[in-house]
Amino acid sequence: YPSRSSVIIIGAGISGISAAKILAENGVDDVVLLEASDRIGGRMRKEQFGGVSVELGAGWISGVGGPQPNPIWELAADSGIRTCFSDYSNARFNIYDRSGKIFPSGIASDTYQKAVDSAIQTLKVEEKYCDEENHNNGDSDSVQIETTSTLKTPIELAIDFMLHDFEMAEVEPISTYVDFGEKEFMIADERGYDYLLYKMAQDFLFTSEGTILDTRLKLNKVVRELQHSRNGVMVRTEDGCVYEANYVILSVSIGVLQSDLLAFDPPLPRWKLEAIEKCDVMVYTKIFLKFPYKFWQSGPGKEFFIYAHERRGYYTFWQHMGNAYPGSNILVVTLTNEESKRVEAQSDEETLREAMAVLRDIFGPNIPDAIDILVPRWWNNRFQRGSYSNFPIIPNLEHFHNIKAPVDRIFFTGEHTSERFNGYVHGGYLSGIDTSKALLEEMRKDKERKSESQTLL
Ligand code: FAD
Repeated sequence: YPSRSSVIIIGAGISGISAAKILAENGVDDVVLLEASDRIGGRMRKEQFGGVSVELGAGWISGVGGPQPNPIWELAADSGIRTCFSDYSNARFNIYDRSGKIFPSGIASDTYQKAVDSAIQTLKVEEKYCDEENHNNGDSDSVQIETTSTLKTPIELAIDFMLHDFEMAEVEPISTYVDFGEKEFMIADERGYDYLLYKMAQDFLFTSEGTILDTRLKLNKVVRELQHSRNGVMVRTEDGCVYEANYVILSVSIGVLQSDLLAFDPPLPRWKLEAIEKCDVMVYTKIFLKFPYKFWQSGPGKEFFIYAHERRGYYTFWQHMGNAYPGSNILVVTLTNEESKRVEAQSDEETLREAMAVLRDIFGPNIPDAIDILVPRWWNNRFQRGSYSNFPIIPNLEHFHNIKAPVDRIFFTGEHTSERFNGYVHGGYLSGIDTSKALLEEMRKDKERKSESQTLL
């Protein structure tokens, strides 16, 4: 019969690891970490490509230089990981049309302003809608939302894509930028972003020569079933193992919660299911292309460029990796949502063909073919089902509360439970800390209740 631990943590991404660290610091170390894949890190994931280490998932430390220190920036500084400053606000001055001409900066600035005004207008309408919906107790029939965009031309669509899929800071204050600052730094270290997790894990798990050897971390353990009650939780994995604990911390992504990977017995209550369903999942795909030599511009203000096409999001946003890895001759193009899903479903050869046609529009027919391509598939990864949570800009506090509220002895964590920083590495990190603190408080109360009832006996 399985031995019972204090806590099982499901998922060893940054939130699972930070949750385990807080428990260990508070003397709770009979913890088991069950991770479905063969590595820790989750959406922090490096891979060797074109001779360097590229980040398939999180790549930036977002929010640096502000009134409060970003905890991830501090962890990076402590671990000595190499980063480089990266400023994509310049991208709007490097917008190419389909014949390879750069739009004059005046047109780019005017279009940018038009896109910002349009986004502000949409926000106002949404705010009004939310106010009236609250006022009418959720009776949404009484309000008409008109958010049809007036942005139609290729350059308008390209800037709209950049604004909505990368920035938003100029439209609505983003907590990350308000608290931690507006600078962004890219990880440029062969050890990868997930090295921060190894450094953190070293404090409480047994490691040797860069490998975690501690038997409390169990890799390749795909959790499929959670039986829960007010007394404890039993967890069953795909390979037929059973683990029991007083409590579970569940750190799987919102995409996984929306899928049928996990079965709950009894099923999750309605309020929880509704909160999970309401949360949007963003798919964000960085496609890496390796070339025999550089044919793009580089130097100050040239790290990013944009391709304006009549289809919104069609190979729009490009970056060269020369700042992070000089001489690497790698370009990265970012696709999102429907374009990501479309590309995930086709062969990499087809994607390479499409990307090369775009680059030949921009730089002419004589550029060399890419010699290698890497296409991550976050949407089809059954342990992810998307890239990160995407809550509406206007937050609904009850929704957030329900996303993270425990059910019996299952505590929820992960970037999607971070009210201020969802979607970011620091959101994942801070959510793990918050969840463990809430669990420690619950354990303390439970102990008190037990000793009170023993005194009565
Ligand atoms: P995860 O890292 O997803 O950890 C959850 C873990 O649970 C995973 O390891 C998974 O394998 C495991 N799991 C899932 N199902 C099961 C199961 N059934 N049983 C056991 N284990 C299971 N953030 C930034 O701050 N800056 C960026 O530049 C940035 N860019 C991004 C780009 C991409 C392409 C992606 C995908 C994400 C990006 N993010 C970025 C977001 C950031 O990566 C996440 O917010 C953060 O890493 C999430 O951590 P987490 O612990 O909540 O979840």
